[in-house]
Amino acid sequence: MDADDVLAAKRAEFVLDGAPPLAPPEAHAVAPPRTPRPVYLDGNSLGALPRTVPGRLHEVVTREWGRLRIRSWSESGWWTAPERVGDRIAPLVGAGPGRVVVGDSTSVNVFKAVVAAVRIAQQDAPGRDELLVDAATFPTDGYIAASAARLTGCTLRPVPAPELREAIGPRTAVVLVNHVDYRTGRLHDLPGTTATAHQRGARVVWDLCHSAGALPVELDAHEVDFAVGCTYKYLNGGPGAPAFLYVREELRSRFDSPLPGWNSHAEPFAMAADYVPADGAARGRVGTPDILSLLALEEALTVWDGVELAEVRAKSLALSDFFLRCVAAYVPAGRVESLTPGAHGERGSQVTLRCAGAGEVMEALIAREVVGDFRQPDALRFGLTPLYTSFADVAHAARVLGEVVA
Ligand SMILES: *Cc1c(COP(=O)(O)O)cnc(C)c1O
Repeated sequence: MDADDVLAAKRAEFVLDGAPPLAPPEAHAVAPPRTPRPVYLDGNSLGALPRTVPGRLHEVVTREWGRLRIRSWSESGWWTAPERVGDRIAPLVGAGPGRVVVGDSTSVNVFKAVVAAVRIAQQDAPGRDELLVDAATFPTDGYIAASAARLTGCTLRPVPAPELREAIGPRTAVVLVNHVDYRTGRLHDLPGTTATAHQRGARVVWDLCHSAGALPVELDAHEVDFAVGCTYKYLNGGPGAPAFLYVREELRSRFDSPLPGWNSHAEPFAMAADYVPADGAARGRVGTPDILSLLALEEALTVWDGVELAEVRAKSLALSDFFLRCVAAYVPAGRVESLTPGAHGERGSQVTLRCAGAGEVMEALIAREVVGDFRQPDALRFGLTPLYTSFADVAHAARVLGEVVA
């Protein structure tokens, strides 16, 4: 399977096996499959380091900051980096240019998107005062949504994601959903939920933290209103890399950010007393961008050059199928239970196994250089990142898991 893998050469573009990070990737020189140590199955939490990032960061620090200093805001393109990097992420989430901006954390972007979406829904129909949130959401989205609800006079109603479509009613202003459940890896129905919300006059905000870079996402095609996502998971931008915010083209002029910092002004350097929002993606900005992280992300995104998301998806599904087969073969019966949906159409890019003593089991796995993570109360999570996870990796991980639980 590794020999037939069309993405196999991509692995050499990452620092995984203790090889020096500055060495250029040996293009297409795919070594015979072997199992490197550690087997890294936690790219859904922190993506691996692309090889060219340290060199680029060194240049940014020594030349752009060290020598050019203030001139770099214009000469090195620092000022426009949030929109430029947004345009690099755009094709990975099915967005046209000028619709994605990069900056702040996912948490902050959830706040901007939810409040702005409620404002639009309430302009269209003042009586809408309900905010639906996926009941199993990543906690930060729920906390932020609760605050956004208080600020906008809405009631927050948690609903299990598969029941969200039915729950959307005449009072619903906004629906906030995680595209992929971070715990189970379940993929939620973005086209269907979005279409139903629109038929019933509500707006949608999708959180793509576990889908951007993991599977094809079609934001423009499905007329998603707002979307946010992380860049340090499947997009490999580095720890704390800035998040992204997508605003639908038709809502661009109606996007009323609740955090209208000076970077989102039409003419930031006019230093005007009155606020006039910028026209394009820059309207989603707040303050001065986090340049070092942003430019590390920009370099990290070059690994996507020439990659077809359909191939990423096909490999991801093949990896999860194969991993589950290996788990069934190597792990004594009854010791783990897969929470990963059986149907491909409901599966993200991770495998989650429920296991007694999961915390200790994961510690033992990590001690044996199989790195996944543990989520309360009893889940083992294994992220499958098709650009650098091999079939040999997941076979080895299942074998070690079998030994550990035995
Ligand atoms: C990882 C993740 C986040 C993280 O938010 P930060 O603000 O970057 O800490 C938020 N939402 C979801 C669904 C996530 O998976």
